[in-house]
Amino acid sequence: MTTPTNLIDGRAIAEEIHRETAAGVAELQQRGVQPGLAFVRVGEDPASQVYVGMKERMSARLGLWTETRVLPEQTSEAELLELVGRLNADPRVHGILVQAPLPRHINAAKIYAAVAPAKDVDGFNPVNVGKLMLGDTDGFVPCTPAGVHELLIRSGVPIESAEVVILGRGNIVGKPMAALLIQKARHANATVTVCHSATRDLAAHCRRADILIAAMGVAGFVKADMVKPGATVIDVGVNRVADPAAKSGYRLVGDVDFARVQPLAGRITPNPGGVGPMTIAMLMHNTARAAAHATAG
Ligand code: NAP
Repeated sequence: MTTPTNLIDGRAIAEEIHRETAAGVAELQQRGVQPGLAFVRVGEDPASQVYVGMKERMSARLGLWTETRVLPEQTSEAELLELVGRLNADPRVHGILVQAPLPRHINAAKIYAAVAPAKDVDGFNPVNVGKLMLGDTDGFVPCTPAGVHELLIRSGVPIESAEVVILGRGNIVGKPMAALLIQKARHANATVTVCHSATRDLAAHCRRADILIAAMGVAGFVKADMVKPGATVIDVGVNRVADPAAKSGYRLVGDVDFARVQPLAGRITPNPGGVGPMTIAMLMHNTARAAAHATAG
């Protein structure tokens, strides 16, 4: 049995990154550069409103200039592409974030591909996806897997030669996470298995993991008997479950059965308070980096 000190405090690590980003922003401002981030939101998805609001407030705290464009649900793909084109050309804008989900009539992949790679702070443009796969560190890595990577590094979890099992092969978390950790590079060089809905005996894969990363979107999926004692467990999932005691009628939980897994894990992220704050921290970091690149002499 381990004590709650096995928690990986995502909030504290995110604060550390925010301090570094704020220092970088101040340095840019001293040489006359105001880093800028544009948010694009289409429709009135309540979760998107909350996410963009949180990112706007953090940007203001760190000294980033922001601009938010809210478009109606019925906006056409052509209109959205036109806006992305204008933001690509706007010198005040160093980073562009198109908040997911987009309405169904819009091809999200087409929109992400239209964001200039140098302003693609979300890391979804195929140029940046390709760079990540090739181990070219010049590109932008999607914020959530980049945040998980930083959590592991800054918590001193050994990654090189580790057995890593990732649950989920989504384009936003699972696939880029695997691409990061298989690189022949420092803080990577792991042996990575990616599991999905067609994986045979998924629990057996999980039990081999030194680092288990759950990114499926299935509440409480990872049970205690799926975790090797001493393993590091990272819970990326965000799931709404009904909770009559909550004012909203629901609460957010992760993909890991935290109460039962925490006592046997070597290290574990709480959820909330683990991966979530890191996603925002990496977005801010990427934006400051985009501004520094764009204005380097
Ligand atoms: P996604 O694209 O929907 O991918 C989910 C993956 O999980 C798929 O590969 C799917 O398999 C697999 N899966 C689902 N149910 C499964 C089951 N019962 N058995 C085996 N595999 C199963 O999701 P995503 O966008 O990557 O996001 C994953 C989770 O992370 C979600 O809960 C999301 O809310 C959360 N998230 C959190 C943050 C954050 O900041 N904390 C950021 C982004 C996402 P198939 O491919 O076979 O269908």
